[in-house]
Amino acid sequence: MRQSTIGVWAGEEGPKDDGSSHLSIVARISFDYPSAAQWADVALGRRPGHIYSRNSNPTVNVFEEKVRCLEEAEAATSFASGMAAISNTLGALLRPGDRVVSITDTYGGTHRLFTEFLPQMGIAVELYDPNDEDSLVRAIARGCRLVYLESPTNPTLKIVDLQKLADAAHTVGALVVTDNTVATPINQNPLKLGSDLVVHSASKFLGGHGDALGGAIAGSTELVTRVFRYREINGAALDPFAAFLLARGIRTLELRVARQNENALAVARFLESHCAVDRVFYPGLESHPKHDTAAKQMRGFGGMLSFTIRDTASRGVTAFLDRLRLARKAASLGHVETMAGTPATTSHVECTAAQRAAMGIPDTLVRYSVGIENVADLIEDLQKALN
Ligand SMILES: *Cc1c(COP(=O)(O)O)cnc(C)c1O
Repeated sequence: MRQSTIGVWAGEEGPKDDGSSHLSIVARISFDYPSAAQWADVALGRRPGHIYSRNSNPTVNVFEEKVRCLEEAEAATSFASGMAAISNTLGALLRPGDRVVSITDTYGGTHRLFTEFLPQMGIAVELYDPNDEDSLVRAIARGCRLVYLESPTNPTLKIVDLQKLADAAHTVGALVVTDNTVATPINQNPLKLGSDLVVHSASKFLGGHGDALGGAIAGSTELVTRVFRYREINGAALDPFAAFLLARGIRTLELRVARQNENALAVARFLESHCAVDRVFYPGLESHPKHDTAAKQMRGFGGMLSFTIRDTASRGVTAFLDRLRLARKAASLGHVETMAGTPATTSHVECTAAQRAAMGIPDTLVRYSVGIENVADLIEDLQKALN
């Protein structure tokens, strides 16, 4: 099946166990069986089935199957949020004394895991500028347990060459984990570019409507099972109601992302031509320093972009944001409606101003997550606010 078909049908082929035509929310903690022997068979893994929803749940399984098929993976599992997916993956795969190599520009919450919590557990983390791939390759070659990547990055849309860094990691026997939230599986499949595990915040594009938190990972059965076994005990299970909303969102993922790709490119071109705009960060623009790498590893350039306006006083940014009508001023991205904000109050609110500056994120940057609206309306709205 192709992606738009997967979104609609994966995990939902054939009649439902409960006779309903569409996915049900199985709001149940436990599952009962007609006999103790059948219960034991399921509990001991001799027959498929569910025992307790912290471990597995039928509604949650449908969401997982959609992610698995979209990433063309052997296995997938889910979590209560994107951060739960990331922290459980790192918690399951790392041991005291391990070394992790990553980039300075990971998602703000991930950055805090790297700078605050993993070091507390005796895990050394080295972070490099994503634009300095030579330093990254040299750091990986010195030997490490895990390489953690994100491309495009949030919020400055930096691109790393996923295949090149995965090859470097595999030379030293390291695992590669890639956060694919910003790209979405519609635009990029890191597992096909050498990554061992792909991580998603389903709260963003996958769900797409800003009404459910969730996370997922996909990869080999062996690796996904290791992380799943940790999550079962750690307890960061996805709620069936959230899984229902996320599965509903995925049914239109391909349609939404195709529109968002188109809208974002048109908005980026418009912004680049406007005299009040200083810099535009979007991998689909020829002016992006890694446009060629992006074009090689992505099928579309995604729905998120960022830019700085020429008035560098932060008052200028807030005045501009207040004049936008067709953009929710709220944290998050990847939803049907356009959202705008500054990283200081959204993706990198966990970081200090000094840390943001070190990551090359000016406090005057505007992150603009493009929705599925008519792009002419968005451009008119931007034009008015900029003028
Ligand atoms: C939002 C986000 C996360 C965290 O996801 P939550 O669902 O909010 O926990 C991780 N990575 C990226 C790139 C994100 O945008």
